[in-house]
Amino acid sequence: MGYQSGFQPKLFYHRINLEQRVPQNHILRKVEKRIDFDFIYAEVKNSYGDKGNVSVPPPVILKMMLLLIFYNVRSERELINTIPLRLDWLWFLGYDLDDEIPNHSVLSKARARWGVSAFKTFFERIVWQCVEAGLVDGNKLFVDTSLIDADASTNSVVDTQSLKRHLNKNYSRLEERLDDLKDHKTTPANSRYVSTTDPDASVTRHSIGSSKLRYKTHRAVDPKHEVITATQITAGSVDDGDLLKEMIDIHENNTQTDVDTVVADSRYGKIDNFLACHDLGVNAHIPSLEKTQRGSGRQKGIFPKDAFTYDHENDTFTCPASQVLRMHHYNKKRKTYEYRASSKVCAQCLLREKCTRAKDGRTLKRHARQDDLDSMLKCANSRQAKRDLITRRHLSERSFAQSKQYGYKRARWRRLWRVKIQDFLIAALQNIQILISNSKSKAQSQKNALAGHLRPSSKRHALSIWPISCLKTIWRNMDTLASLGALAFIWTESSMRKHPVSGFGQQPVQADLIGISAGFDNHKEDWGGLLATEDYCSIGTMVCQAARACGGGCFAILEGGYNHDVLGHNVAALIDGLSS
Ligand code: SF4
Repeated sequence: MGYQSGFQPKLFYHRINLEQRVPQNHILRKVEKRIDFDFIYAEVKNSYGDKGNVSVPPPVILKMMLLLIFYNVRSERELINTIPLRLDWLWFLGYDLDDEIPNHSVLSKARARWGVSAFKTFFERIVWQCVEAGLVDGNKLFVDTSLIDADASTNSVVDTQSLKRHLNKNYSRLEERLDDLKDHKTTPANSRYVSTTDPDASVTRHSIGSSKLRYKTHRAVDPKHEVITATQITAGSVDDGDLLKEMIDIHENNTQTDVDTVVADSRYGKIDNFLACHDLGVNAHIPSLEKTQRGSGRQKGIFPKDAFTYDHENDTFTCPASQVLRMHHYNKKRKTYEYRASSKVCAQCLLREKCTRAKDGRTLKRHARQDDLDSMLKCANSRQAKRDLITRRHLSERSFAQSKQYGYKRARWRRLWRVKIQDFLIAALQNIQILISNSKSKAQSQKNALAGHLRPSSKRHALSIWPISCLKTIWRNMDTLASLGALAFIWTESSMRKHPVSGFGQQPVQADLIGISAGFDNHKEDWGGLLATEDYCSIGTMVCQAARACGGGCFAILEGGYNHDVLGHNVAALIDGLSS
């Protein structure tokens, strides 16, 4: 048995190598390998001056914020105090054992200096990396919300209509907040009460719980690998359904794909949302809010609208007592026509008790765009919609539950812009986890890094690098892509059968660079059994010509091909075509 002699700390250490001390499979190594933090130099360049002290490098600050969220460290002070104790954190931040660790205030100063946009860009870049890695399908979108407790006590709420309001500096803050919220409906209580600690949060009640100061996170999740493709933060009182169109737009912008179907719960099932989806050409797998509320409140025990038959030709309804309800009024604000039977007829009707409680008899409303609405509601009641709604329940809950492990039950900071930063960091972190767990190889991550650098700045200059898993989706949206200025040359077994090689390259092209995901497995001697070696040369020539017409370049990534006897010849033929 050995006894430990009295501990005498060494003055100098040698043979200590952080690189060796951090295990090869450590999660922070994987993050460091796959995520580019250096983009932040360019992103925040303008928020630093040329004179004065040299700042802590922005990538180090961004990494510190990521550690703060990832390890759910209680405070920035605690994070800074813990860094010297953690070899893995030191390694991740690029510090050595004897390096000086910055003061905790650099984090709050950087947040104020950089603003929300730097963190938004970080989140968008991670989403794009997921898209490039084939982890996002993009066609179907699951939207949901969750409430987050604000970092403020309900004791800080004051009544702005009291006499004290004129002396209260927070009254002006409330006015600012109401300005921000003017596009969204808010509850009467939140027009009147404001927190002096965090005036951006609103008093919100969550199902059967008590009212608290809260924010609301609106989130869109792609079902393929549950990548968060869009996220927004509002005060807790903002209605869920208000942001549906905005979420679709953000998703399409972040993923550069068009949404086919949006899935959400009945809180999104408002007429405006159905019509917005109709105009966008998006299927809305959303239960109708009106139908969900039917049979409750004042409508309890009375005939539903379905019990009345609409006559298109005469523009009338027929009631269960076979009486005719005619149009008598148009409500401009609600854009609805109102139909009524004669009040005398309703007054004498035997079914009256089951039909209406109004003195003037039963009134029915029909929207000015009821036909569009009906087609959307039919789609919302389809079998596929019901399946999607079951999937939504688990998928959205899981995504929010994962956020909670990063401390997203409560806002870490006060004011809306800071909670937005927290939201972007958490969403980015969840996506990084997905990216890491689905990354196959170093080569793949290098390709992703390249794609991250080349992320299209707008739809007009889209870059076409499409992994195989995206090809079917892209093919379905070929016309849209072409009209947006993006070009995807693809050859898969199914697409080639429908469209011969000569069909490619005839779309209008406006792309900075054309990349092709070159799958050679459709060769007639491979499993696809479709193309001859010369066809690859033709495809290469067409890509080359399209790139020349754009004044840009082109390249190909070897994506498939399993018969090694012919693969080399096919690749050579494609290169011949590309360099023609
Ligand atoms: S109350 Fe009026 S609308 Fe209702 S069933 Fe009787 S007649 Fe028809």
